[in-house]
Amino acid sequence: MVPLLDVNAQNHPLEAEFTAAFLRVFRSGQFIMGPEVTALEEEIARLTASRHALGVSSGTDAILLALMALGIGPGDEVLVPSYTFFATAGCVSRSGATPVFVDACPVCFNLDVPDARAKVTSRTKAIIPVHLFGQAADMDAVLHLARECGLKVIEDGAQSIGASYKGRPCGSIGDIGTYSFFPSKNLGGFGDGGALVCQDDALAERCRVLRVHGSQPKYYHHFVGGNFRLDPLQAAMLRVKLPHYGDYTRKRQENAGYYSARLAQLPGVVTADPAHCRCAAAQAAWLEETGARIVLPVAYAHNEHIWNQYTLRILGEGRRDAFKQFLTDRKIGCEIYYPVTMDRQACFADTPETSRRGCDVAHRLSGEAISLPIYPELTHGQKDEVIAAVTAFLEQG
Ligand SMILES: *Cc1c(COP(=O)(O)O)cnc(C)c1O
Repeated sequence: MVPLLDVNAQNHPLEAEFTAAFLRVFRSGQFIMGPEVTALEEEIARLTASRHALGVSSGTDAILLALMALGIGPGDEVLVPSYTFFATAGCVSRSGATPVFVDACPVCFNLDVPDARAKVTSRTKAIIPVHLFGQAADMDAVLHLARECGLKVIEDGAQSIGASYKGRPCGSIGDIGTYSFFPSKNLGGFGDGGALVCQDDALAERCRVLRVHGSQPKYYHHFVGGNFRLDPLQAAMLRVKLPHYGDYTRKRQENAGYYSARLAQLPGVVTADPAHCRCAAAQAAWLEETGARIVLPVAYAHNEHIWNQYTLRILGEGRRDAFKQFLTDRKIGCEIYYPVTMDRQACFADTPETSRRGCDVAHRLSGEAISLPIYPELTHGQKDEVIAAVTAFLEQG
């Protein structure tokens, strides 16, 4: 049996430290903000090379807070990937703005910046690149587009805290970066939590005020904010994990390397070619030519990939779902991220048709992608079991 994720395999060895952290908060009696949150913020700022870091209630709230701080609202359009977790698009909608869905790159799964450019209108105010599965989006292209069209950039780094793009930490590159401490993220807490980083003093201050209902000082409200605070208990627990974070990341990278080296030997398996980045037609022709059945994920040389997910593409009508069943029958955990793209979600059916155009690659990925167990504590035996299952699936024809 190989679970998709085993959170307690990571937590158990640190039980004594978690208990001590709990007792520290328990005895302090400080259950809202205070020194644990401040200390975590300093540590997150260091990890992400950011001037300011704020602990917030979740990765979702971090995105909403970022949109509020940047003054995005009704009448505005925000470019978001079609192929992402719902929160990215949901927050845009909650801000009152219209999400405009952007197609995906068939190599790295991240947003296709030329497609984003084609969807800019006079109402476009911001773009939210998501660093999906632990790998950075094409930030040079995003920044270039943002400068040219006067857009704000919010990096959704929920899956990529500690990852980097050309040596710069994901989240520290745009106007605001957001992170999640949801237990399945690389830095997972004991419930919901998140963080926001930014480099601009005035913008950081605005975020701090909006985090506490827009009050400054207490009971005087200049803007309408929310309760977006991170609990000190959550902060204290996360601080226990932070010194081990580099080690967790290294193990995920080793696991990805182990899978890729072995799976690439199997007939019918190819590794995605970075040369096809954003060129779906060239990639499709190449896949046809090679007769590939499974495509392995790749890390671009300029990215430090932290492998929140190890995501395969299973080619051929119905094959991905057959593969999922095959793994499930063998008690190997797997998950489809994401079966329905944002442009096809029922809740966005009322957005203008123009905001839902042209997401063909995203649609394709939603039918082909499946993620394997990649968490740091996987044993060699477990990884070999996963590899044996993929091998058996291919042999069965
Ligand atoms: C998990 C996730 C979020 C939301 O984070 P929560 O902490 O669960 O609210 C946002 N965006 C992406 C891409 C995510 O994966």
